[in-house]
Amino acid sequence: MKPVEIIGAGLAGLALANALQRDGVPVTLYEAGVLPRHRVCGEFICGRGADALKSLNLGETLAGAALHQSTVWMVRGREALKRNLPEPAVGLSRFALDQRLAESFVQVGGQLHLRTRKRVTGRTTGTVRCDGRRASESDWIGLKLHCRGLATKADLELHLGRHGYVGLSKIEDDQVNVCGLFKQRPELKAKRADLLGCYLEKCGLKAVAERLRASEIVPDSHCGVAGVEFALIPETGDSQLYLGDAYSVIPPFTGNGMSIALESATLAYPPLLEYAHGTYDWATCVARINRAQHASFDKRLRAARWLHPWIHSNRRQRILGAIARSGLLPFSQLYALTH
Ligand SMILES: Cc1cc2nc3c(=O)[nH]c(=O)nc-3n(C[C@H](O)[C@H](O)[C@H](O)COP(=O)(O)OP(=O)(O)OC[C@H]3O[C@@H](n4cnc5c(N)ncnc54)[C@H](O)[C@@H]3O)c2cc1C
Repeated sequence: MKPVEIIGAGLAGLALANALQRDGVPVTLYEAGVLPRHRVCGEFICGRGADALKSLNLGETLAGAALHQSTVWMVRGREALKRNLPEPAVGLSRFALDQRLAESFVQVGGQLHLRTRKRVTGRTTGTVRCDGRRASESDWIGLKLHCRGLATKADLELHLGRHGYVGLSKIEDDQVNVCGLFKQRPELKAKRADLLGCYLEKCGLKAVAERLRASEIVPDSHCGVAGVEFALIPETGDSQLYLGDAYSVIPPFTGNGMSIALESATLAYPPLLEYAHGTYDWATCVARINRAQHASFDKRLRAARWLHPWIHSNRRQRILGAIARSGLLPFSQLYALTH
Protein backbone atom coordinates (compact mmCIF):
# COMPACT_ATOMS: atom_id res chain seq x y z
CA MET A 1 0.00 0.00 0.00
CA LYS A 2 1.41 3.42 -0.97
CA PRO A 3 1.63 5.95 1.86
CA VAL A 4 -0.10 9.36 1.80
CA GLU A 5 1.26 12.53 3.38
CA ILE A 6 -1.16 15.28 4.43
CA ILE A 7 -0.07 18.83 5.20
CA GLY A 8 -2.35 20.62 7.65
CA ALA A 9 -4.49 19.19 10.46
CA GLY A 10 -7.57 21.37 10.03
CA LEU A 11 -10.92 19.79 9.23
CA ALA A 12 -10.03 18.72 5.68
CA GLY A 13 -6.74 17.13 6.74
CA LEU A 14 -8.07 15.48 9.89
CA ALA A 15 -11.18 14.03 8.24
CA LEU A 16 -9.26 12.68 5.25
CA ALA A 17 -6.46 11.29 7.43
CA ASN A 18 -8.98 9.39 9.56
CA ALA A 19 -10.79 7.89 6.57
CA LEU A 20 -7.64 6.71 4.78
CA GLN A 21 -5.87 5.39 7.87
CA ARG A 22 -8.96 3.39 8.87
CA ASP A 23 -8.80 1.70 5.46
CA GLY A 24 -5.21 0.65 6.05
CA VAL A 25 -3.46 3.46 4.12
CA PRO A 26 -0.37 4.60 6.06
CA VAL A 27 -0.98 8.34 6.63
CA THR A 28 1.42 10.92 8.02
CA LEU A 29 -0.22 14.20 9.01
CA TYR A 30 1.85 17.34 9.60
CA GLU A 31 0.49 20.30 11.54
CA ALA A 32 2.36 23.58 11.96
CA GLY A 33 0.58 24.47 15.20
CA VAL A 34 -0.73 22.62 18.24
CA LEU A 35 -4.02 20.81 18.73
CA PRO A 36 -6.51 21.49 20.07
CA ARG A 37 -6.60 25.26 19.80
CA HIS A 38 -9.20 27.95 19.40
CA ARG A 39 -9.61 29.06 15.80
CA VAL A 40 -11.44 31.96 14.22
CA CYS A 41 -14.63 30.32 13.04
CA GLY A 42 -18.38 30.72 13.60
CA GLU A 43 -18.45 26.97 14.36
CA PHE A 44 -21.80 26.70 12.61
CA ILE A 45 -21.70 23.41 10.69
CA CYS A 46 -24.39 23.23 8.03
CA GLY A 47 -26.21 19.98 7.27
CA ARG A 48 -23.93 18.97 4.41
CA GLY A 49 -20.86 19.23 6.65
CA ALA A 50 -22.43 17.05 9.33
CA ASP A 51 -23.49 14.54 6.65
CA ALA A 52 -19.94 14.48 5.25
CA LEU A 53 -18.56 13.57 8.69
CA LYS A 54 -21.18 10.84 9.07
CA SER A 55 -20.40 9.43 5.63
CA LEU A 56 -16.76 9.07 6.72
CA ASN A 57 -17.95 7.19 9.85
CA LEU A 58 -16.92 10.13 12.01
CA GLY A 59 -20.41 11.14 13.11
CA GLU A 60 -19.61 10.39 16.75
CA THR A 61 -17.22 13.37 16.82
CA LEU A 62 -20.30 15.65 16.77
CA ALA A 63 -21.56 14.33 20.14
CA GLY A 64 -22.93 17.09 22.36
CA ALA A 65 -23.16 19.65 19.54
CA ALA A 66 -25.91 22.27 19.78
CA LEU A 67 -28.73 21.93 17.26
CA HIS A 68 -29.50 24.95 15.06
CA GLN A 69 -32.96 25.37 13.65
CA SER A 70 -33.79 29.05 13.80
CA THR A 71 -32.02 32.16 12.61
CA VAL A 72 -32.61 35.86 13.00
CA TRP A 73 -30.95 38.61 10.92
CA MET A 74 -30.57 42.08 12.32
CA VAL A 75 -29.57 45.00 10.10
CA ARG A 76 -28.15 47.93 12.12
CA GLY A 77 -30.02 46.73 15.21
CA ARG A 78 -33.41 46.24 13.48
CA GLU A 79 -34.82 42.80 12.95
CA ALA A 80 -34.96 42.11 9.22
CA LEU A 81 -35.68 38.39 9.01
CA LYS A 82 -36.61 35.53 11.32
CA ARG A 83 -36.79 32.06 9.82
CA ASN A 84 -36.19 28.42 10.40
CA LEU A 85 -33.12 27.20 8.55
CA PRO A 86 -33.99 25.16 5.43
CA GLU A 87 -32.16 22.24 7.09
CA PRO A 88 -30.92 21.83 10.66
CA ALA A 89 -27.27 22.65 11.35
CA VAL A 90 -25.05 21.97 14.36
CA GLY A 91 -22.76 24.08 16.52
CA LEU A 92 -19.57 22.60 17.93
CA SER A 93 -16.31 24.33 18.81
CA ARG A 94 -13.27 23.64 16.66
CA PHE A 95 -11.43 23.08 19.94
CA ALA A 96 -13.61 20.01 20.63
CA LEU A 97 -14.04 18.79 17.05
CA ASP A 98 -10.35 19.02 16.09
CA GLN A 99 -9.33 17.27 19.30
CA ARG A 100 -11.76 14.40 18.76
CA LEU A 101 -10.68 13.92 15.15
CA ALA A 102 -6.99 14.04 16.08
CA GLU A 103 -7.48 11.49 18.88
CA SER A 104 -9.40 9.13 16.63
CA PHE A 105 -6.67 9.37 13.94
CA VAL A 106 -3.93 8.51 16.43
CA GLN A 107 -6.03 5.67 17.88
CA VAL A 108 -6.22 3.95 14.48
CA GLY A 109 -2.46 4.16 14.10
CA GLY A 110 -1.97 7.43 12.19
CA GLN A 111 1.23 9.44 12.54
CA LEU A 112 0.47 13.01 13.67
CA HIS A 113 3.36 15.46 13.88
CA LEU A 114 2.42 18.66 15.66
CA ARG A 115 4.49 21.88 15.60
CA THR A 116 5.87 20.73 12.26
CA ARG A 117 5.64 23.23 9.42
CA LYS A 118 6.14 21.18 6.30
CA ARG A 119 7.83 22.78 3.34
CA VAL A 120 6.33 21.87 0.00
CA THR A 121 9.16 20.91 -2.28
CA GLY A 122 9.08 19.95 -5.95
CA ARG A 123 7.95 16.40 -5.27
CA THR A 124 4.18 16.34 -4.83
CA THR A 125 3.28 12.71 -5.50
CA GLY A 126 1.32 11.34 -2.56
CA THR A 127 1.12 14.76 -0.84
CA VAL A 128 -2.22 16.41 -0.10
CA ARG A 129 -2.28 20.12 0.73
CA CYS A 130 -4.87 20.80 3.44
CA ASP A 131 -2.88 23.75 4.76
CA GLY A 132 -5.66 26.31 4.75
CA ARG A 133 -5.98 29.73 3.21
CA ARG A 134 -3.04 31.63 1.78
CA ALA A 135 -1.99 34.85 3.49
CA SER A 136 -3.11 37.81 1.41
CA GLU A 137 -3.10 41.60 1.41
CA SER A 138 -6.85 41.73 2.07
CA ASP A 139 -8.08 44.21 4.68
CA TRP A 140 -10.49 41.84 6.45
CA ILE A 141 -10.02 40.80 10.05
CA GLY A 142 -11.84 37.91 11.74
CA LEU A 143 -12.33 37.88 15.53
CA LYS A 144 -13.88 35.25 17.74
CA LEU A 145 -14.56 34.35 21.36
CA HIS A 146 -16.84 32.08 23.37
CA CYS A 147 -19.08 33.19 26.18
CA ARG A 148 -21.57 31.85 28.70
CA GLY A 149 -24.72 33.42 30.05
CA LEU A 150 -25.58 35.11 26.75
CA ALA A 151 -29.22 34.58 25.75
CA THR A 152 -29.80 34.62 21.99
CA LYS A 153 -33.00 35.40 20.06
CA ALA A 154 -32.49 32.37 17.82
CA ASP A 155 -30.01 29.51 17.44
CA LEU A 156 -28.06 31.73 15.07
CA GLU A 157 -28.17 35.53 15.23
CA LEU A 158 -26.54 37.43 12.39
CA HIS A 159 -25.96 41.17 12.88
CA LEU A 160 -24.97 43.38 9.97
CA GLY A 161 -23.16 46.61 10.80
CA ARG A 162 -21.03 49.24 9.05
CA HIS A 163 -18.36 47.34 7.08
CA GLY A 164 -18.70 44.21 9.11
CA TYR A 165 -20.94 41.54 10.54
CA VAL A 166 -21.04 39.21 13.51
CA GLY A 167 -22.73 35.90 14.23
CA LEU A 168 -23.86 34.66 17.63
CA SER A 169 -24.41 30.93 17.54
CA LYS A 170 -24.87 28.22 20.09
CA ILE A 171 -22.21 25.60 20.60
CA GLU A 172 -21.74 22.77 23.13
CA ASP A 173 -22.04 23.16 26.93
CA ASP A 174 -24.40 26.16 26.74
CA GLN A 175 -21.69 28.35 25.28
CA VAL A 176 -22.23 30.91 22.55
CA ASN A 177 -19.71 31.50 19.78
CA VAL A 178 -19.36 35.16 18.86
CA CYS A 179 -17.48 35.53 15.60
CA GLY A 180 -17.24 38.56 13.34
CA LEU A 181 -15.63 39.68 10.12
CA PHE A 182 -14.73 43.35 9.79
CA LYS A 183 -12.85 45.74 7.56
CA GLN A 184 -9.65 46.36 9.48
CA ARG A 185 -9.38 49.54 11.54
CA PRO A 186 -5.69 49.85 12.45
CA GLU A 187 -6.52 52.83 14.68
CA LEU A 188 -8.40 50.53 17.09
CA LYS A 189 -6.21 49.58 20.03
CA ALA A 190 -7.57 47.27 22.72
CA LYS A 191 -6.59 44.26 24.78
CA ARG A 192 -7.15 41.05 22.81
CA ALA A 193 -10.26 40.03 24.76
CA ASP A 194 -11.89 43.43 24.21
CA LEU A 195 -10.98 43.94 20.55
CA LEU A 196 -14.16 42.25 19.30
CA GLY A 197 -16.29 44.54 21.48
CA CYS A 198 -14.44 47.60 20.13
CA TYR A 199 -14.98 46.51 16.51
CA LEU A 200 -18.68 45.93 17.23
CA GLU A 201 -19.05 49.46 18.60
CA LYS A 202 -17.28 50.98 15.60
CA CYS A 203 -19.65 49.06 13.32
CA GLY A 204 -22.68 50.53 15.04
CA LEU A 205 -23.41 47.28 16.90
CA LYS A 206 -23.10 48.74 20.40
CA ALA A 207 -25.98 46.70 21.81
CA VAL A 208 -24.22 43.45 20.82
CA ALA A 209 -20.98 44.71 22.40
CA GLU A 210 -22.85 45.44 25.63
CA ARG A 211 -24.45 41.98 25.70
CA LEU A 212 -20.99 40.51 25.19
CA ARG A 213 -19.45 42.50 28.02
CA ALA A 214 -22.31 41.52 30.37
CA SER A 215 -21.65 37.81 29.71
CA GLU A 216 -18.90 35.53 30.99
CA ILE A 217 -16.11 35.29 28.42
CA VAL A 218 -14.59 31.79 28.30
CA PRO A 219 -10.91 32.30 29.23
CA ASP A 220 -8.43 32.10 26.34
CA SER A 221 -11.16 31.51 23.76
CA HIS A 222 -10.52 34.80 21.92
CA CYS A 223 -8.51 34.72 18.74
CA GLY A 224 -8.11 36.69 15.53
CA VAL A 225 -6.95 36.36 11.96
CA ALA A 226 -6.13 38.97 9.35
CA GLY A 227 -5.55 38.92 5.60
CA VAL A 228 -8.44 36.70 4.54
CA GLU A 229 -9.36 36.64 0.85
CA PHE A 230 -12.50 35.00 -0.47
CA ALA A 231 -13.88 32.70 -3.11
CA LEU A 232 -11.35 32.75 -5.93
CA ILE A 233 -11.94 29.76 -8.17
CA PRO A 234 -8.59 28.01 -8.42
CA GLU A 235 -6.84 26.88 -11.55
CA THR A 236 -6.18 23.21 -10.96
CA GLY A 237 -4.14 21.59 -13.64
CA ASP A 238 -0.94 20.54 -11.97
CA SER A 239 -0.03 17.63 -9.77
CA GLN A 240 -0.69 19.57 -6.56
CA LEU A 241 -3.79 18.55 -4.69
CA TYR A 242 -5.50 21.23 -2.56
CA LEU A 243 -8.49 20.58 -0.30
CA GLY A 244 -10.68 22.79 1.90
CA ASP A 245 -9.57 26.41 2.31
CA ALA A 246 -6.38 25.55 0.42
CA TYR A 247 -8.65 25.01 -2.61
CA SER A 248 -10.70 28.18 -2.06
CA VAL A 249 -12.11 30.24 0.82
CA ILE A 250 -15.87 30.88 0.87
CA PRO A 251 -17.07 34.05 2.68
CA PRO A 252 -17.93 33.12 6.27
CA PHE A 253 -21.50 34.51 6.30
CA THR A 254 -22.48 31.32 4.43
CA GLY A 255 -21.42 29.11 7.36
CA ASN A 256 -20.14 26.76 4.70
CA GLY A 257 -16.33 26.68 4.88
CA MET A 258 -16.12 23.80 7.34
CA SER A 259 -18.59 21.90 5.23
CA ILE A 260 -16.53 22.45 2.08
CA ALA A 261 -13.44 21.23 3.97
CA LEU A 262 -15.25 18.09 5.13
CA GLU A 263 -16.92 17.49 1.78
CA SER A 264 -13.57 17.86 0.01
CA ALA A 265 -12.26 15.04 2.23
CA THR A 266 -15.17 12.81 1.16
CA LEU A 267 -14.49 13.62 -2.53
CA ALA A 268 -10.76 12.96 -2.23
CA TYR A 269 -11.02 9.78 -0.22
CA PRO A 270 -12.10 7.22 -2.90
CA PRO A 271 -9.54 8.28 -5.58
CA LEU A 272 -6.79 8.43 -2.95
CA LEU A 273 -7.69 4.91 -1.87
CA GLU A 274 -7.33 3.81 -5.50
CA TYR A 275 -3.96 5.59 -5.66
CA ALA A 276 -2.78 3.85 -2.47
CA HIS A 277 -3.83 0.48 -3.90
CA GLY A 278 -1.95 1.24 -7.12
CA THR A 279 -5.06 1.36 -9.35
CA TYR A 280 -4.60 5.06 -10.24
CA ASP A 281 -1.37 6.92 -10.81
CA TRP A 282 -1.02 10.25 -8.99
CA ALA A 283 -1.96 12.44 -11.96
CA THR A 284 -5.21 10.49 -12.56
CA CYS A 285 -6.05 10.65 -8.87
CA VAL A 286 -5.52 14.45 -8.71
CA ALA A 287 -7.47 15.06 -11.92
CA ARG A 288 -10.46 13.06 -10.64
CA ILE A 289 -10.51 14.85 -7.30
CA ASN A 290 -10.21 18.27 -8.92
CA ARG A 291 -13.05 17.53 -11.33
CA ALA A 292 -15.23 16.50 -8.40
CA GLN A 293 -14.27 19.64 -6.42
CA HIS A 294 -15.04 21.96 -9.34
CA ALA A 295 -18.42 20.27 -9.85
CA SER A 296 -19.34 20.44 -6.16
CA PHE A 297 -17.99 23.82 -5.08
CA ASP A 298 -17.50 26.32 -7.87
CA LYS A 299 -21.15 27.37 -8.20
CA ARG A 300 -21.38 27.84 -4.42
CA LEU A 301 -18.14 29.85 -4.35
CA ARG A 302 -19.29 32.13 -7.19
CA ALA A 303 -22.69 32.73 -5.57
CA ALA A 304 -21.10 33.51 -2.19
CA ARG A 305 -18.58 35.88 -3.74
CA TRP A 306 -21.42 37.74 -5.49
CA LEU A 307 -23.55 37.91 -2.34
CA HIS A 308 -20.81 38.95 0.07
CA PRO A 309 -20.97 42.72 -0.67
CA TRP A 310 -24.70 42.62 0.16
CA ILE A 311 -23.75 41.58 3.68
CA HIS A 312 -21.00 44.09 4.38
CA SER A 313 -21.44 47.13 2.14
CA ASN A 314 -23.42 49.89 3.85
CA ARG A 315 -25.73 50.82 0.97
CA ARG A 316 -26.51 47.26 -0.08
CA GLN A 317 -27.14 46.22 3.54
CA ARG A 318 -29.95 48.79 3.71
CA ILE A 319 -31.50 47.46 0.51
CA LEU A 320 -31.13 43.89 1.79
CA GLY A 321 -32.78 44.86 5.10
CA ALA A 322 -35.71 46.52 3.31
CA ILE A 323 -36.25 43.52 1.02
CA ALA A 324 -36.04 41.12 3.97
CA ARG A 325 -38.50 43.15 6.07
CA SER A 326 -40.97 43.25 3.21
CA GLY A 327 -40.89 39.44 3.14
CA LEU A 328 -39.53 39.34 -0.42
CA LEU A 329 -36.06 37.93 0.31
CA PRO A 330 -35.84 34.44 -1.22
CA PHE A 331 -33.99 33.13 1.83
CA SER A 332 -34.32 29.40 1.14
CA GLN A 333 -33.19 29.83 -2.48
CA LEU A 334 -30.17 31.92 -1.45
CA TYR A 335 -29.32 29.37 1.23
CA ALA A 336 -29.52 26.59 -1.35
CA LEU A 337 -27.24 28.55 -3.73
CA THR A 338 -24.47 28.83 -1.15
CA HIS A 339 -24.76 25.36 0.44
C1 LIG B 1 -14.36 34.90 10.51
C2 LIG B 1 -14.60 33.50 10.01
C3 LIG B 1 -15.77 32.83 10.39
C4 LIG B 1 -16.03 31.55 9.91
N1 LIG B 1 -17.18 30.92 10.29
C5 LIG B 1 -17.50 29.71 9.76
C6 LIG B 1 -18.71 29.05 10.12
O1 LIG B 1 -19.48 29.51 10.95
N2 LIG B 1 -18.98 27.87 9.54
C7 LIG B 1 -18.15 27.30 8.63
O2 LIG B 1 -18.47 26.23 8.11
N3 LIG B 1 -16.97 27.87 8.31
C8 LIG B 1 -16.62 29.07 8.85
N4 LIG B 1 -15.43 29.65 8.53
C9 LIG B 1 -14.52 28.96 7.60
C10 LIG B 1 -13.85 27.75 8.23
O3 LIG B 1 -13.23 28.08 9.45
C11 LIG B 1 -12.78 27.22 7.26
O4 LIG B 1 -13.35 27.14 5.97
C12 LIG B 1 -12.26 25.85 7.68
O5 LIG B 1 -11.58 25.97 8.89
C13 LIG B 1 -11.34 25.30 6.62
O6 LIG B 1 -10.77 24.10 7.07
P1 LIG B 1 -9.39 23.60 6.45
O7 LIG B 1 -9.14 22.27 7.02
O8 LIG B 1 -9.43 23.73 4.97
O9 LIG B 1 -8.30 24.67 6.93
P2 LIG B 1 -7.84 25.05 8.39
O10 LIG B 1 -8.86 24.70 9.39
O11 LIG B 1 -7.39 26.48 8.28
O12 LIG B 1 -6.56 24.12 8.63
C14 LIG B 1 -5.36 24.29 7.94
C15 LIG B 1 -4.25 23.78 8.86
O13 LIG B 1 -3.02 23.70 8.15
C16 LIG B 1 -1.96 24.05 9.02
N5 LIG B 1 -0.82 24.44 8.17
C17 LIG B 1 -0.70 25.51 7.34
N6 LIG B 1 0.49 25.47 6.68
C18 LIG B 1 1.13 24.36 7.12
C19 LIG B 1 2.40 23.76 6.80
N7 LIG B 1 3.23 24.32 5.91
N8 LIG B 1 2.74 22.62 7.44
C20 LIG B 1 1.91 22.04 8.35
N9 LIG B 1 0.68 22.56 8.66
C21 LIG B 1 0.30 23.69 8.06
C22 LIG B 1 -2.55 25.21 9.83
O14 LIG B 1 -1.86 25.40 11.04
C23 LIG B 1 -3.99 24.72 10.04
O15 LIG B 1 -4.13 23.98 11.24
C24 LIG B 1 -15.11 30.92 9.03
C25 LIG B 1 -13.92 31.58 8.68
C26 LIG B 1 -13.67 32.85 9.15
C27 LIG B 1 -12.39 33.55 8.76
